[in-house]
Amino acid sequence: MLHRNLIAGEWLAGESEIENRSPSDLSDLIGLYAQASCDQLDATLDQAQQAQREWAAYGIERKQAVLMSIGNEMMARAEELGTLLSREEGKPIAEGKGEVYRAGQFFTYYAAECLRQIGENADSVRPNIEVDVRREPIGVVAVISPWNFPTATASWKIAPALCYGNAVVWKPANMTPASAYALTEIISRQDIPKGLFSLVMGSGSSIGQRLVESAKVNAVTFTGSVPVGKGIAAAAIQNLTKVQMEMGSKNALAVMDDADLDLAVTLALGGAFGGTGQKCTASSRLVVHDAIHGAFVEKLVAGAKAMKVGHALEAGTQMGPVVSATQLAENLAYVDLGKSEGAELACGGERLEMPHDGFYMSPGVFLSTRNDFRINREEMFAPLTSVIKVGCYDEALSVVNDTHFGLTSGIVTRSLARATHFRRNARTGVVTINLPTAGTDYHVPFGGRGDSSYGSREQGKAAAEFYTTVKTAYISAGPV
Ligand code: NAP
Ligand code: MG
Repeated sequence: MLHRNLIAGEWLAGESEIENRSPSDLSDLIGLYAQASCDQLDATLDQAQQAQREWAAYGIERKQAVLMSIGNEMMARAEELGTLLSREEGKPIAEGKGEVYRAGQFFTYYAAECLRQIGENADSVRPNIEVDVRREPIGVVAVISPWNFPTATASWKIAPALCYGNAVVWKPANMTPASAYALTEIISRQDIPKGLFSLVMGSGSSIGQRLVESAKVNAVTFTGSVPVGKGIAAAAIQNLTKVQMEMGSKNALAVMDDADLDLAVTLALGGAFGGTGQKCTASSRLVVHDAIHGAFVEKLVAGAKAMKVGHALEAGTQMGPVVSATQLAENLAYVDLGKSEGAELACGGERLEMPHDGFYMSPGVFLSTRNDFRINREEMFAPLTSVIKVGCYDEALSVVNDTHFGLTSGIVTRSLARATHFRRNARTGVVTINLPTAGTDYHVPFGGRGDSSYGSREQGKAAAEFYTTVKTAYISAGPV
């Protein structure tokens, strides 16, 4: 079945189609997905500009009802849509369902925010003049999202974009079009102006590039890799288009000598191998105190070996396949690179043959690594993690901070003093104490430092900064 794009409010076939197959089982064809043409993109951008003005004029309760309806439907259909997500992306079904439910919560959260847009009022420094400061929509927002959280990432962009009165043109990752189509189908049935929301499936280098170069786009919100993000920023700046980017990372979990050992191992395994390691918040560096290193490594390796790798939709699967043949080849190349740099591969890191033809590999743990190894500098986006042994807390903190990324970091310790010092001195946008480096809430800001992020924070009330522009009005309150 061909799944079409939503162009200027109409479901249209594209200039070509792609096949979407499950990475768990390549014989499982999920569907055909239209690839939008440049003419279709231009047409939908024109319609989006018109629709945005109509949407901005809707009352706040009417906008709230739209967002609430989208969120409620997603939560109600989390089982069905989560299964679809897992089928096309490869994460175990519990993670797929959890993602869709969470995505629904972004919509219900921003539904409520529709009613909480309250400005500021001040006296002017000049007598008898009032100042009113309010936020207005930015206009047409281009949303460019990755495959690893195809529904959640897009939702934490689409929900605030709509909440604050904008039109959306969404270019999802071509690896996960089914999730994009499903969400678009829900949005398309709402009480919204024709063309307010567009789906333009297609490759990043063609339709994505064209979208970010368009002068009809007022803001670009992107989540993906650093090189693509830099290219998007360079294109957007030609039109002085506002940009916000969430990119890669190389997150570290510090395990101190006073840590609860079982907790530390659980956090490390979940952080390293959840989502098959394909998370921007993955714990890919485990910075471990010498005094606990032996005991920690023994349990970590045993835990990694015991993980059940399998089909995303099969009961009992703890880690699904990686997303694509390219990703698998890159991961295996990193395994070879790590060994050539002098790391000891304690377990995993091997291609697995399974009853289904898919992109399976075993979770890998590197020991005896140094922070200057490439496997500890570059984001691998793989089910691979490295242990870096350190002698004390200060050394741990400096290793955690020695990266050009800066999304998340965590520490496992029973010491309040160390936890507090770490929270204040880790150079990341998100810090966790005795919790995994992955897993964040929707009502508070999310984002990083260094090469991990650019522009203002996403999620919570922080999102208003990106999706609105501020207007300062001066009103004479002079004599009547
Ligand atoms: P990617 O290759 O950078 O692609 C991200 C999106 O950009 C996709 O929709 C892609 O389209 C599109 N794109 C590619 N080239 C483009 C261009 N020239 N112009 C406009 N759009 C373009 O990243 P990915 O492989 O999908 O995802 C993995 C990356 O995402 C990792 O680096 C990960 O760390 C990062 N990530 C970050 C966060 C965060 O919040 N910090 C969260 C999740 C993931 P196509 O792929 O369809 O061609
Ligand atoms: Mg890609």
